Amino acid sequence: FLVFSSIEFIGMILMIPYLSRVKLLEQPRSTKKKVDLKRLFSLSKSERPFLITGTLFLLLSSLTQIVQPYFFGRIVDDALTSDSMRPVTNDVLILFGINCVGAIASFLRSWVFELAGQRVVYRLRQNIFDSIIKQEVGFFDITRTGELTNRLSSDTQVLQNAVTVNISMLLRSFLQIAGSLVVMFYLEVSLTLVLMVIVPVIILFSRQYGIIVRKLRKQFQDELAGAGTTSEESISNIRTIRIFGAEKRISNHYHENLLKSYQVGKKLALNSGLFMGLVGFLAAGGIALVMWYGGKLVHERKLSTGTLASFLMYLLQVAVAFGMLASLFGDFMQAAGASERLFDLLDRIPKIPATSTHECSIKPDDFDGSIRVDKLFFTYPTRSDQQVLRDITFEIKSGQKVALVGPSGGGKSTIASLIERFYDPDSGTIYFGSHPLTSIDPKWLRENVSFVNQEPTLFACSIRDNITFGLDRTDISLDEIHSVAKQANAHDFIEQFENKYDTLVGERGVRLSGGQRQRIAIARALLMSPKLLLLDEATSALDAESEHFVQEAIERAMIDRTVLVIAHRLSTVRNADVVIVINQGTIVEQGTHDSLIAKEDGIYKKLVLRQLMTGNDTISMD
Ligand code: ADP
Repeated sequence: FLVFSSIEFIGMILMIPYLSRVKLLEQPRSTKKKVDLKRLFSLSKSERPFLITGTLFLLLSSLTQIVQPYFFGRIVDDALTSDSMRPVTNDVLILFGINCVGAIASFLRSWVFELAGQRVVYRLRQNIFDSIIKQEVGFFDITRTGELTNRLSSDTQVLQNAVTVNISMLLRSFLQIAGSLVVMFYLEVSLTLVLMVIVPVIILFSRQYGIIVRKLRKQFQDELAGAGTTSEESISNIRTIRIFGAEKRISNHYHENLLKSYQVGKKLALNSGLFMGLVGFLAAGGIALVMWYGGKLVHERKLSTGTLASFLMYLLQVAVAFGMLASLFGDFMQAAGASERLFDLLDRIPKIPATSTHECSIKPDDFDGSIRVDKLFFTYPTRSDQQVLRDITFEIKSGQKVALVGPSGGGKSTIASLIERFYDPDSGTIYFGSHPLTSIDPKWLRENVSFVNQEPTLFACSIRDNITFGLDRTDISLDEIHSVAKQANAHDFIEQFENKYDTLVGERGVRLSGGQRQRIAIARALLMSPKLLLLDEATSALDAESEHFVQEAIERAMIDRTVLVIAHRLSTVRNADVVIVINQGTIVEQGTHDSLIAKEDGIYKKLVLRQLMTGNDTISMD
């Protein structure tokens, strides 16, 4: 035993420089930590009935633990001193009965606390998801998807135990320490006082360990989130990776990210080991001291053998409980780290509201599709040094078809994004009738303005669910769905699928062709019967037949509607009431096709002439 203790002692001496180094790096943030922990515990407030029930079972199971060593000592003494086996048998039976009650109480305690934890995380995940999903589009430009999904899955998991099971373990450990100490004082005062020398030292080291671990764990979670982002991005872009044969490069990239978390993980492992060693040493020292002093008391006939045995068992219980407290402290610190990030997400108020608020609650009943764009200037939040739109002013009258044309990167899609209020402009206003867009109810806006993208994304559900995606109501008749699908030239190909409208389209619609996806997206927009339709005409290469169907669907969708189309086809531009030419963020020409073509040296004229020479229908100024 002495040899063992000496080795541990030498180990501890060697650890001191390491511990002091880590301590120097630590920046205590005492006030914030307190607030976080308080809010952390408030998460479990609504689980109070569960927690109270769990605590009652916990008390019961701890009580059964506390009386065990006492009976153990009695059994030893009875065996040594009594003539018959009867007292021993009786005590063993009582102990067995107590243990059975303890086991049942443990089961109930564990079940109830675990359940409360699940409920807390279930609610937390839902709330955080709701908070993420209502953020403005610009937020997603600056935040990576993997980071958000990681917050949802792994950070919330860290909290699950902290706010429930760990609270129960904390209580249990305190009870075990307090209960054991009371019985130990009762058994032998002087022996307990000897032990008390060790306790403050253990507490001091536990605190130190908690601080180090908190820092390391937060770092670990952050690094892991980085790796999660890479994996998520890679898996969702597998086709691009395959096209460029980039598997090895991506794998190396992931490996680099993972390696960072592993490096922190290594430090974490060493730390845990060091801590265990330290506590082990202190415990060994304590036990050595108590054994020596206890042995002396037994030798002097001042203490019975059984009492010493019980005492040692209590001592073990106290040591285990202290070990548990230390690791719980680490867990709480980790949870505080995770909760900081989660609460940041929960508390974030979107810069552009997703639902009606006091500032934006107007639902212009008389809206006829006409809008006025007045002196728009705009810079993307991720690119503050480049103003992508400058002084954009134009008008769309009710029923008009307005075409935006110009070289790619000029700012056409950005104008559509601003009308959808994905972003707010730096200055300038978009008017819906007499109402500025910023005063309009976002829900009303989504119902009255629809946007068909060049590369529409579908969801991994059925065709029917994709078409009805924009509507809240559930009573949409099959006739309505068929009617919009027919208008969008989608009905015939859908009917050819074995499961027709119930066909699943796969993640992001991968099981459909580009042209089919576009036609479903048009049907989806038409079902909303928007007053204003924003269209981004496809430039992506579709086969001739698909292109014809899509084009026909687009033309049909435009009938009897106010439309702003980002046009790439001469036929579309020719039929437009107004053509607006955008170049490098400003309007360079505006008028009808005929008036623009009549302009000497006009940009539009050059564009059309070039297109006529190449003989295809696609306008390109690149
Ligand atoms: P167009 O539709 O005419 O091809 P866009 O409106 O898509 O042009 O782009 C205008 C400019 O804004 C381009 O320089 C483009 O790189 C930039 N841009 C587009 N989207 C974003 C974004 N989400 N974040 C930062 N810059 C963007």
